[in-house]
Amino acid sequence: MNKPDTRKALGLRAIINVSGTMTGLGASIIVPQAIEAMAGVMPQFVEVDELQKVASGVIARLCGAEAGFVTASCSAGITLAVAGAMTGSDLYAVERLPDTTGLKDEVLIMTGHMVSYGAPVEQGIALAGARVVPVGQATSARPYQLAGAISERTAAAVYVVSHHTVQYGQLPLEEFAAICRARGVPVIVDAASEYDLKGFLAAGADIVLYSAHKFLGGPTAGIVAGRKELVRATFLQNGGIGRGMKVGKESIVGTIAALEAWEKRDHAGIREREQAALALWRERLAERPGIRVEIEPDPTDNPLDRLKLFVEPQAAHITAWDLADALARGEPPVIVRDHEVEHGFFYLDPCNLHPGQENTVADRLTEELGAALRSNEIIATPLQERRGRRAAYLKRWPD
Ligand SMILES: *Cc1c(COP(=O)(O)O)cnc(C)c1O
Repeated sequence: MNKPDTRKALGLRAIINVSGTMTGLGASIIVPQAIEAMAGVMPQFVEVDELQKVASGVIARLCGAEAGFVTASCSAGITLAVAGAMTGSDLYAVERLPDTTGLKDEVLIMTGHMVSYGAPVEQGIALAGARVVPVGQATSARPYQLAGAISERTAAAVYVVSHHTVQYGQLPLEEFAAICRARGVPVIVDAASEYDLKGFLAAGADIVLYSAHKFLGGPTAGIVAGRKELVRATFLQNGGIGRGMKVGKESIVGTIAALEAWEKRDHAGIREREQAALALWRERLAERPGIRVEIEPDPTDNPLDRLKLFVEPQAAHITAWDLADALARGEPPVIVRDHEVEHGFFYLDPCNLHPGQENTVADRLTEELGAALRSNEIIATPLQERRGRRAAYLKRWPD
């Protein structure tokens, strides 16, 4: 089933992704089971609410939930779950949102969880018409601060599980959920990128949200799982603010197939392939002047390691960010994980590689490092210049 590479026909670069699962890079490699299921349903009609019932059954089984459904994205799930917590099953309230007159409309979130995954978490909450109530400070949240922030206007609390959040000084989910449960406040967990499908509900969440297009290798979609009543109230938003976050039959079917494939996936085999890629890169980078590598486990305990590559500019003749940019500019373009690059390192993430691409990545690294060593000057673009590049690109897009 070797289909032609659509990118060529569209004049797009055939990038290699060692960055991770990024919306801006096309998320993940969709598993064949999902592609096949989507192709099968696309020319057919289905009763979509019935299809969502089937999705509910599969999601319930895999997530240890009472019910679930598929929406456009995890981001949509945040907005819809918050909306559901405010309206319950009141259809009139559903149609009135984002006007929340007469409804509980405050949503708590720890300040250290108010992060951007490409858009701000708190905007996803506010989009439903809710008022965001930050709890604690960026690097500290205490039980009394959460308990004290709960009032008769509190509709829900949002908890984010992600490497993006502040990684210390936050309340663990169990404690966060216990405080909320004692006061009747539902807890919505954004676990977009987490491999663990059952742990967050087990830890006390009322709703947990995942992206179908990340580790699961599904189509672009979001998974809502949790307590039946709250899942239903969230589902009802499809007749309100959820309409603009619509998911099609193909994405529902594709998400079901990806979940079922996940259950049967050779997780150990995949882990082994990823480890082999890391070992290859480590070997090929050994003894390179100015380069030091470490294998680092995923910060939120997903079963995934990454290669952390430190660049010492004096010895390597290039900065970490210039190396990242050179790799991205080259042929084939290699996109690394560079969100902390100002500290002089970036990561290589092996979880989205096609077979053989690990070798190309190693070759490209050695090429660029060799070229830098031959350069008489140290290649060092001011970070400030690089930082402004994304905004400048967006301001001239589509030109
Ligand atoms: C990716 C991500 C999202 C957004 O998920 P989409 O399904 O792409 O909307 C939200 N929260 C976190 C923590 C993420 O990593």
